[in-house]
Amino acid sequence: MDLSPDLPISKLGVLGARLAKPLRAMGLVTAGDLLRRLPFRYEDLSQTATLSGPSEGPVTVRVRIDLIRTRRSANKNMLLTEATVSDDMGTAKVVWFRQPFISKILKPGDRVALSGTLELKAWGLELVNPAYEKEHAGATSVHTGRLVPVYSVPAALTPKQIRAVLHLALPAAAAMSETLPQELIEKFRLPGIERALQMIHFPASMEEAESADRRFRFEELFFFQLRGAWARRALERKRAVRVPFDEAATRAFVASLPFTLTDDQKRVVWKILQDLETGRPMQRLVEGDVGSGKTVVAAMAMHACALVGYRSLLMAPTEILAEQHYATISRLLQATTFRVALRTASRKEGEADASIIVGTHALLSKGFVPKYVALVVVDEQHRFGVGQRQALLSQLPTGTEGEIPHFLSMTATPIPRSLALALYGDVDFSALRQMPPGRRPVETLLVGERDRRAMMAHARDEAALGRKTFVVCPLIEASDALGVKSVEEEVQRLRAELPGFEIGLLHGRMKTQEKRDTMERFASGDLHFLVSTTVIEVGVDVPLATVMIIEGAERFGMAQLHQLRGRVGRSSLPSRCYLAPSHGAPQVMERLQAFVRSKDCFELSELDLRFRGPGNLFGEEQSGFADLQRFRPGDTALIEDTREAVSALIVADPDLDAHPLLKKKISAEAERVHLE
Ligand code: ADP
Ligand code: MG
Repeated sequence: MDLSPDLPISKLGVLGARLAKPLRAMGLVTAGDLLRRLPFRYEDLSQTATLSGPSEGPVTVRVRIDLIRTRRSANKNMLLTEATVSDDMGTAKVVWFRQPFISKILKPGDRVALSGTLELKAWGLELVNPAYEKEHAGATSVHTGRLVPVYSVPAALTPKQIRAVLHLALPAAAAMSETLPQELIEKFRLPGIERALQMIHFPASMEEAESADRRFRFEELFFFQLRGAWARRALERKRAVRVPFDEAATRAFVASLPFTLTDDQKRVVWKILQDLETGRPMQRLVEGDVGSGKTVVAAMAMHACALVGYRSLLMAPTEILAEQHYATISRLLQATTFRVALRTASRKEGEADASIIVGTHALLSKGFVPKYVALVVVDEQHRFGVGQRQALLSQLPTGTEGEIPHFLSMTATPIPRSLALALYGDVDFSALRQMPPGRRPVETLLVGERDRRAMMAHARDEAALGRKTFVVCPLIEASDALGVKSVEEEVQRLRAELPGFEIGLLHGRMKTQEKRDTMERFASGDLHFLVSTTVIEVGVDVPLATVMIIEGAERFGMAQLHQLRGRVGRSSLPSRCYLAPSHGAPQVMERLQAFVRSKDCFELSELDLRFRGPGNLFGEEQSGFADLQRFRPGDTALIEDTREAVSALIVADPDLDAHPLLKKKISAEAERVHLE
């Protein structure tokens, strides 16, 4: 049977018509889209058995329905569907909970395959909530008696529905176009697209599934790296402003700083100043823990540009942080003649012709096109989409023909080593591993219900000493995207629990002025406690804050927890961070305990990769990493293979003229990133 990959899902039989709408909501429109949705694991229901005795694990039995009916359970709360089934060897009782429709689908006399664990009870064999599938002559089984693929699905769909419609779409695999060059398929012994799709969705064995999975992982990494190589190639053809190194002025600036630079800061600054001198566009990511002193590194780079009459932009993810940077950078540059300006949606300060313009994404707004920009710095770059960075880079003329700005980004969420390897050198990395002297590590405690009293007592004691406590709440419902509800409830609760203490509230829906006032009252005023959503996540500096309580800690990624913890311990006062998960499931505890033990952001990013995978590492914004759905940490052999493949390809065919399909795919993606 021939089926076009372009066939709309709505044309895939009755089921396709019924599921077309919820699938469209997932971005799946055609049969081909469905096939590209790969399973993330399999349930092994391939063992067959008879009703002759109990089974060790899940098995599939082929039986006849003798009796079936649905009734309310004794306590009237639940609908139970009960059946008696038999084969040549015996009989068994079957129970399904809360699936009353089954007694409409399965009728006495029907032959069905059931997959589950056969248990021996006082009344004989029993199967609880087995997977079921009617047997039709000549039909292959989809949900039972095999390795059954499991897909991630939204609540609107059941795993069974998506599996069934995928099975209907499977014949379209034959007409899918091959996405990898034939020479790579041969060289790396990969299955072709048709075979790979069949084997990944409905494998006959785990070997087949693994072989197909290797191809798709190869494909992901290959395109990820090809895009990187392509971007770097485009960049290498461009020029940036040459910023000559002015040793005397640099020394004078360093001498004017309120502290001595750490060796790491010196090394990284030196590297950046060298980059700026070459006239080749710099693309450097400075990774350093919260508090490692990245701001001054950026300030030195911007100062170097100012010395030769060029301007720099510093972009921060939030207004609070932009204002803080504006104040810090202004202070650092006080001894110089250079001026700093601020530009956010709600506040504009300083002259438009300042040497340094600090802002939020308001720097990207139409009609604001500063001239003579030699350097763009993006702070907390993991919070910005790839598209936003591209937009910023593409809209800035520097004043001289054809030159583009140098680009420096900073983050406390390092890219794990294995992923950095896959980045194909289109970004250079610098790490600040050393902390400025005199820092005290924040003591981190994982607390259960029983520890809450001690935790609150500690926060109260600190408040009595004039110190401050952050209480961070997760978003509890998707509909409440700004977390207003959760923080409001928490404030109510704390006001009741802590009479006599001033408790403030901060969330994303508040007006900028309100937020600023609240932060001010917390940083240096009468507020003892600040209940907040993650709007405080990055950068905020409140030296008196010594306690961080993270409610629902299991809902945050490691990097995010680390950022939150970084809000305390910003002075010489001892500080504490409490992780208060809302439940103690083993996976939750394992992850949080790993967090408690880890020593820095570099270790954490590796852990995050291991626990959550690259797609979730930086949130949805980093669309590039989200493409690595199947990547496995430790996939170094595959990274090397794909790297080699990309290098060979680019050397042999630098403009990809002999590979029009590849070229089309990555150019289309470059375009997409641009438009985001
Ligand atoms: P982050 O890397 O988190 O952006 P910041 O740049 O905000 O860190 O620096 C954190 C604090 O450390 C600031 O108060 C800054 O003035 C201070 N600081 C930075 N470098 C040094 C240094 N070499 N010695 C002492 N203090 C430093
Ligand atoms: Mg910072």
